[in-house]
Amino acid sequence: MQLFIIIIKSYMNRNNSEALFFKAKSYFPGGVNSPVRAFRSVGGTPLFIKKGKGAIIWDADDNEFIDYCCSWGPLILGHANDGVVNAVIETVKNGSSFGAPTALENELAELILSFNHFIEKIRFVSSGTEAVMSAIRLARAYTGRNKILKFEGCYHGHSDSLLVKAGSGLVTFGNTSSAGVPEAFVNETIVVDLNNRAAVIEAFERFKNEIACVIIEPVPANNGLLLQDKDFLIFLRDICTENKTLLLFDEVISGFRLCFCGAAGYYSIKPDIITYGKIIGGGLPVGAYGASKEIMATVSPDGPMYQAGTLSGNPVAMAAGIAQLSACLKPGFYDELALKTSYLIDKIKTLANESKVSFKFFSIGSIFWIAFTDAATIQSASEIDANSMRYFRQLHTYLLEHGIYLGPSGYEVGFVSEAHSYEQLDKTAFAFANGILSLNKIEN
Ligand SMILES: *Cc1c(COP(=O)(O)O)cnc(C)c1O
Repeated sequence: MQLFIIIIKSYMNRNNSEALFFKAKSYFPGGVNSPVRAFRSVGGTPLFIKKGKGAIIWDADDNEFIDYCCSWGPLILGHANDGVVNAVIETVKNGSSFGAPTALENELAELILSFNHFIEKIRFVSSGTEAVMSAIRLARAYTGRNKILKFEGCYHGHSDSLLVKAGSGLVTFGNTSSAGVPEAFVNETIVVDLNNRAAVIEAFERFKNEIACVIIEPVPANNGLLLQDKDFLIFLRDICTENKTLLLFDEVISGFRLCFCGAAGYYSIKPDIITYGKIIGGGLPVGAYGASKEIMATVSPDGPMYQAGTLSGNPVAMAAGIAQLSACLKPGFYDELALKTSYLIDKIKTLANESKVSFKFFSIGSIFWIAFTDAATIQSASEIDANSMRYFRQLHTYLLEHGIYLGPSGYEVGFVSEAHSYEQLDKTAFAFANGILSLNKIEN
């Protein structure tokens, strides 16, 4: 009998990251403060990052990477952007938090609301999770209904009502996707597949006058990139209107990413409530939810729906947001990002066209996702082949060795920032293509 031992060779020195991770495991569950950072789905030790500038990050062993994770989306200008850094430094010199209103909150609100005509009032919070959790409460308070409808494959943060995944059947109350979520919460959350009109129609029939809101990532980008047809989003808009149910766009990723007005602007569809996060804070913790004046009148202290935050509208975070969003308003900003992204993808496809393993890039604006598939489209979570993730795992390892940093899971999308240069994109394309070409077809 022979024993085969597979050694994943690492040419890169990772001693410092390994030592830091060893220590971190004694402090934090799994050694991290957010689970996907632990590299569980790609294997190996997470890299501890020491600094970033532009499109580049350096780890604790001084290895250098071109970064396409970009903090999971917030850094649309790249790392340590001068404008953002200066705004933060100048602001924090005058104090970091007052628990009283500041002019900076007005400034960021005005910047957003004067360009975004899908919402009339906004409330700042400190994370995407908090934004969505509050927006759900708002929908329930405004409609006086309890149930919400979400889609399998969309992520909306980790609040109890939303840690629910589909059961079996067309329309289901989900199962919790986390221990510690009471059954009672799950019973208020209806889960259906993306891109499935029949399921949505059936849900509205079964729960007539009970659904407070339909929540969707209009560009689902947390479980692969499950691009929906615009018609499906219009269908949701219409069925919500007919049933006096609010349509909630969770634009924590797509907001200020597809264009300044996010997916609502990109598709010209007006949801009733929109949530933001990630880019809005320029790399500092900010989230927000917004709606019409009428709906927002439900929020405390104007209305009966309570929601508050000690650090909400924090001046330093507001300053970072203002600096970043102002830069996004430069003419041609989003066109250039989209151009760079398709340049990168086209180049990888050309260089890797002899690949033994079928792959496909899905992308919109500056968001991209590689799937190892023959399918022309992937529009719902169930269409993703979990087996294909082993290819991503190999590719991820290869890319790290060659100085390219992607989010450590095949279900995560990549982001191109303003800071990525064409030279860096070329370098990335070569490494990426060679990585793909190095994959060996594994029979199922
Ligand atoms: C990231 C994300 C969230 C959660 O935001 P956090 O700031 O991580 O709490 C919610 N919704 C969507 C669509 C997201 O991408």
